[in-house]
Amino acid sequence: MKLNLNIQPLNTWINTGKEPLVISGPCSAETEEQLVATAHLLAQTGKISALRAGIWKPRTRPGEFEGIGSIGLEWLKRAKEETGLPTAVEVATAKHVEEALKAGVDILWVGARSTANPFTVQEIADALKGVDVPVMVKNPVNPDLSLWVGALERINNAGITKLAAIHRGFSSYEKSAFRNEPMWDVAISLKTLAPELPIINDPSHITGNRDLIGYVSQKALDLDMQGLMIESHIDPSVAWTDAKQQVTPAALADIIDHLTLRKPEVRNAEVNDKMTELRNQIDKIDDLVIQKIAERMQIAEKIGQYKKENNITILQVGRWDEILQKRTTYGKALKLSGEFTEKLLELVHNESIRRQTEVMNAEAGQGQAAEKLTHA
Ligand code: PEP
Ligand code: MN
Repeated sequence: MKLNLNIQPLNTWINTGKEPLVISGPCSAETEEQLVATAHLLAQTGKISALRAGIWKPRTRPGEFEGIGSIGLEWLKRAKEETGLPTAVEVATAKHVEEALKAGVDILWVGARSTANPFTVQEIADALKGVDVPVMVKNPVNPDLSLWVGALERINNAGITKLAAIHRGFSSYEKSAFRNEPMWDVAISLKTLAPELPIINDPSHITGNRDLIGYVSQKALDLDMQGLMIESHIDPSVAWTDAKQQVTPAALADIIDHLTLRKPEVRNAEVNDKMTELRNQIDKIDDLVIQKIAERMQIAEKIGQYKKENNITILQVGRWDEILQKRTTYGKALKLSGEFTEKLLELVHNESIRRQTEVMNAEAGQGQAAEKLTHA
């Protein structure tokens, strides 16, 4: 399935001449001096295409700095006049949209907490009707592709064709090195659904840690994302919000200088031939993997039949533990991470259980079958 979005290319609304495309600026506008001085230093790097700043801050807990409010729009206007940089602001209500547009903000974005709420997104979309302004939609805080897609559709349905997505990672209960888990596969799924939709990566909110920004930025570019949004502050140590993840404009320039740009399309014929050859090898192996998995399922069905005849439960925890243990050890010896092998086995095992359940239910009366599924 493909999404039916009506969108204009990125270069119709932002300078894509700089490689990579970078949008930068402070997490929050704090004072006129902080914002304007940061903007000047960023402009001097020559590496950024737009200036971002949070004017209204959606905070998870009350009592934290909730943004400087409308006055910050005046500071942004000054920063734009003095540096020539177009400006970008987060909007979360119809009133934000109106005020930002009135103040001449060039690009609007919908924040992660707003994207999670269709009422909020619809309110923003309604306020955008009849307006020609670029809008970027951050992924929702939870890893729900449909919510992200739904928000993009609502904004697009309102007539906004200068549209992009921002991948800022997802909150997760499990502790990791990142503030928000990138879950790259969710962004890749969006790209598959809407190949023409630009995706901008936000390594600042993914990492929550300035030391990891370069690493995540590189990964985003390698996955063919169209740009980066990176928070920058004239003095991150005293930033009012997101202090740990902001970088000075000089550090930002250094991060960008160390990124390697790779091309999605290969033009050189020799490289092309080699790529085709390697891809053919991959295709063959993938076919083989699928064929083998299908064979494995047929055996699982036979076992299901046997278990049924002998009144054995589908799941035997001991056997499953043994499979996990043996295969992950084997995988590690072949340089597959334990986590990968475990995930793969879980997928295969779940499908096996589903197939065995089918076999067991095929001829058995329903009540009887349910009784046998004690472990599944
Ligand atoms: C931000 O960009 O400063 C912000 C609040 O981001 P998010 O909506 O991704 O949390
Ligand atoms: Mn922030």
